Amino acid sequence: MESKKIFLSSPHMSDEGYEQKYVKEAFDTNWVAPLGENVNKFEEELANYVGSKHAAALSAGTAAIHMAFKALNVGKGDIVFCSSLTFSATANPIMYQDATPVFIDSEPDTWNMDPKALEKAFEKYPNPKAVIVVYLYGTPAKIDEIKEICDKHNVPLVEDSAESLGSTYKGKQTGTFGKYGIYSFNGNKIITTSGGGMLVSDDEERIAKVRFWSTQAREKARHYQHKEIGYNYRMSNIVAGIGRGQLKVLNDRIAKKTEIYNTYKEAFKDIPEIEMQPTPPNTKPNHWLSVITIKENSKVTPLNIMEALEKENIESRPVWKPMHLQPVFKDYDFIKVKEKAVSEDLFERGVCLPSDTKMTKEDIERVIKVIKGLF
Ligand SMILES: *Cc1c(COP(=O)(O)O)cnc(C)c1O
Repeated sequence: MESKKIFLSSPHMSDEGYEQKYVKEAFDTNWVAPLGENVNKFEEELANYVGSKHAAALSAGTAAIHMAFKALNVGKGDIVFCSSLTFSATANPIMYQDATPVFIDSEPDTWNMDPKALEKAFEKYPNPKAVIVVYLYGTPAKIDEIKEICDKHNVPLVEDSAESLGSTYKGKQTGTFGKYGIYSFNGNKIITTSGGGMLVSDDEERIAKVRFWSTQAREKARHYQHKEIGYNYRMSNIVAGIGRGQLKVLNDRIAKKTEIYNTYKEAFKDIPEIEMQPTPPNTKPNHWLSVITIKENSKVTPLNIMEALEKENIESRPVWKPMHLQPVFKDYDFIKVKEKAVSEDLFERGVCLPSDTKMTKEDIERVIKVIKGLF
């Protein structure tokens, strides 16, 4: 008999059924669509949780990144500095706005955008329109350094916190340091609405404008009047109901993800070839995914590990393939300070381990046993 499948990160609804209660309310009042109480409340509750003044609930994290760039007036010919080691959804909206990405390498302490490479990018391209930083697998970047560089050059910072909802840096939530922060509620994220996203900012006028663009840019008029190009990017009242329920268990999910990370860390501490993604000082990551790297001289490769896990019906993944190595972005510049790019090194040596909050202690032990068996 095939053993129970262990997932990388799958949806995990609350035991209490909070999500269904809010969805049922939407049904009972027939506020199935378009907007309604759940959308307004989800925006308010998420903004309160992260400590941002305003929020716009959207159909995806990608839509939120797109709207952040649009709100910053990113357009044709503009340059946007972007973390190279990320999922393509960070970079694609730069292209939607006809702008030009310049990819920035990672540093080894957090795996995120290297402030030194960022500084170097400013020397080559003094006037970018925006910087977008990613907090990989839930781990905050060196935010103070990055923020300081952006402020010095007077360039707005967008935080792609799609993977890091609930993570803190010096006690403050990721997504609230820059001009805009974005979150994702895609199926694999720490909380999910089946699909959705949020844009947060302290700028009330810009958030109102994003809501306007996201509902087809309909001017206030009885007839359908349009002065601008709009988008159909708004979150539905049903989806927002799921989000409100999920938000109630976000702290539980972070606790469980942290427990998973610590269990792996403890289990692998005697294997010198395995290193965990570091937890940088002054940060509290949400540990969305527990990720390891395998030392270069190891006889066991990341592929060996992924194949061994697959055989046991256990899901794992490589680390994101950097954007500067993607065929679709091959014509764009990449800035690094190390001879060998850190993002390439992490891509070659990394494995994302199952970090599903539904895993039991036995499930985690099963994963550990397979990996330890290889060394
Ligand atoms: C998931 C993710 C996104 C996109 O979010 P969607 O809600 O799937 O559109 C963007 N950036 C990063 C780093 C992500 O992991």
